[in-house]
Amino acid sequence: MSRIPIIAGNWKMHKTAGEAVAFVRGVKGKAEIEGVESVICAPFTALPALAEAVKGTTLKLGAQNLHFADQGAYTGEISGAMLKELGVTYVIVGHSERRQYFAETDETVNKKVHAAFRHGLTPIVCVGELLEEREAGKTRDVVRRQTEAAFDGLSAEQAAQVVVAYEPVWAIGTGRASTAEDANEVIGFIRGVIAERFGADAAAKVRIQYGGSVKPETVPDFMRQPEIDGALVGGASLDPASYIRLVEGAKP
Ligand code: PGA
Repeated sequence: MSRIPIIAGNWKMHKTAGEAVAFVRGVKGKAEIEGVESVICAPFTALPALAEAVKGTTLKLGAQNLHFADQGAYTGEISGAMLKELGVTYVIVGHSERRQYFAETDETVNKKVHAAFRHGLTPIVCVGELLEEREAGKTRDVVRRQTEAAFDGLSAEQAAQVVVAYEPVWAIGTGRASTAEDANEVIGFIRGVIAERFGADAAAKVRIQYGGSVKPETVPDFMRQPEIDGALVGGASLDPASYIRLVEGAKP
C-alpha cells in the first residue's frame, strides 16, 4: 500500500496576501515535485489571492481552521462553504495552538472534521501530547483519546481520507523535534487506533504526518520511517527556498 507523501506548510499568522503571492512566485515550478503533495495552509485573508497565484501549478491550498456550522450567527468565523468556493482543498483542524488559545476541544474538533467533509474539504487533524503528558508516560492515552474523538462518527471511507498530523506540543516552535524513531512509533500507534475503529484497510490508507520543529535537513530522516507520510511544518515553511527543500526532501 503506497501512500502519497504530503508536505503542508502551516503559515500560522504570517504573510499578508501580497507576501503570500510573492512566496508562490518564489516556489513555482520548484516546490512541485512529482509524487509529493504540497499544500500551503495560509491565513484566510491570503487565500483568494493565493488561489489565483497557484493556478496552473500543482500546489494545493489549505486553511488553518473552519467553523463547525454551515452558516449562522457566529461573528468572525469562516465556514467550510466559504473555503470550498475559494478553491481550498485542505483544512487544519485542532492544531494545538487552537486547543490552547482558542478553547478548541476534542468535541469541537470532531464537529469541524464533519463540517470539512460536508463541504468537500480534507481535514488535517492535529493530535499530540504536552510535555508533562509525555513525562508522565501518557502519550499513547492522549493521542488515542484525541484520535478517537476526532474520527468519531466517520464512515470507513471518510476515515481513510483524513490526514493526521502527529505534533507533540513540546516540539512545536521549540527547535526540539521528536526523533524520527519516536515519531514513527507514536504514528504507528495512531494507525493502530484507526485500524481498531475502521479496519486495517482504512488505516493503511490514512496519511499521518509528523510536525514539530521539522527543518529541510530533517525531512528525509522522518520520511525514511515506514509509518510517516509527510510533515506539517510551521517556521521552516515561510521562506520559499526552505519550503522547496522541504518538498524535495519528501521525494519518494
Ligand atoms: P513548527 O510548527 O514547524 O514551527 O514547529 C509546526 C506546527 O505548528 O504545525
